[in-house]
Amino acid sequence: MSFDQFNLHSSLTRAITRLGFDTPSDIQQEAIPRAMAGKDLMASARTGSGKTAAFVLPALQRLLTPAERPGVGPRVLILTPTRELATQVAESIGELGQYTKLSGGAIVGGVPYPPQEKLLRKPLDLLVATPGRLMDHMSKGRVDFSRLEMLVLDEADRMLDMGFVDAVNEIADKTPSDRQTLLFSATFEGAVKKVADRLLTNPERLDLDPVSQGHSSITQRVHQADHFHHKHDLLDRLLNEDGDSQTLVFTATKKGADALARAMNDRGHASTSLHGDMSQNERRRAVDKLRRGRARVMMATDVAARGLDIRTLGLVVNFDLPNAPESYVHRIGRTGRAGATGTAISLVSRDDWPKLARIEKMTGSRIERSVLQGLEPKQPEPSTRAKPGGSKPSGRGRGGAGAGNGGRRPAKARG
Ligand code: AMP
Repeated sequence: MSFDQFNLHSSLTRAITRLGFDTPSDIQQEAIPRAMAGKDLMASARTGSGKTAAFVLPALQRLLTPAERPGVGPRVLILTPTRELATQVAESIGELGQYTKLSGGAIVGGVPYPPQEKLLRKPLDLLVATPGRLMDHMSKGRVDFSRLEMLVLDEADRMLDMGFVDAVNEIADKTPSDRQTLLFSATFEGAVKKVADRLLTNPERLDLDPVSQGHSSITQRVHQADHFHHKHDLLDRLLNEDGDSQTLVFTATKKGADALARAMNDRGHASTSLHGDMSQNERRRAVDKLRRGRARVMMATDVAARGLDIRTLGLVVNFDLPNAPESYVHRIGRTGRAGATGTAISLVSRDDWPKLARIEKMTGSRIERSVLQGLEPKQPEPSTRAKPGGSKPSGRGRGGAGAGNGGRRPAKARG
């Protein structure tokens, strides 16, 4: 299998060669020919699978033919849940489109408006955007979707989970109904299904990484903790025993992420944190710290960690378990990428058990319970049964005390 089989424009194959991509990944093999044939697609593929190029290449190929309609607005719109992911998609467009003259840009929250207003006034081929900020510009009449040919919803489950259901529908409604729509998501249940039913036309479904299949390259374990301080001790030990692989630790709240980074720094583990309250520059610095090895551990909330492309993570720890079981699958998918093996460990205390029960119900498998010598739990595992469909927060763990709505429920401002 090679990229030649797709008959891509020579400017694109040149870029592919330059980037050193020899073989199309699974999702690319499945999605590229179908997308190039103009089909609507709903595909499940996780970060690290090469899913970005799976939609960027067909989009660029399409843009290398003249526009079907007049206008200056974008011909391809890619919606992503977070600005980090938007930035990565835009980078990928820059790389794969480096030998084309196509113009692209990103519209994300947390940065000044004027450059974005300028961007929207000029002819634009591709636009990557987070829904919140795009809606802001749309409400002021700055966005022209009259010639839009392709809409991509990247990480749709996360986007909808973050409260962007209405925004996504509204944006799609402003685009021509004969557009091509590609939807990428870890799950096709609930809100994603509703949105897919509404926005896609006879889609082909590509299940390359169904949630229920789990992650075979990832070892998963659960450590029971009696309380918050027990979790600290367990994490400290895990970091000591894990040698020096880079570790991502998920916390429920932004404050929790900061506090845990301080606590682990105090115990000698070079740690940093990443969350939605940080400015773009602060986030970039935090990610850089990890990339350059000046920190080995990153404490993050779900939202902030989304789109974080660090390929060498050996260990993912759930200091707090997520409320939504799908988030668990996303989190652990941050390790064991690109054929490497990884470990995902969940620290489970009283409030986390119902969440674990829901995760195990969704994935259909029981995660191995494990104990660390000297740090055994004193309490027995409670018998929990997942309540169907219930993903209500079951009160805050001590780890997240007082930090309000947690990292996964951003206000509109996030977009
Ligand atoms: P993604 O899943 O889209 O976030 O891609 C993960 C990483 O894989 C990115 O750094 C891409 O540059 C890289 N990548 C994508 N497709 C290929 C390919 N066919 N061969 C090698 N690397 C790839």
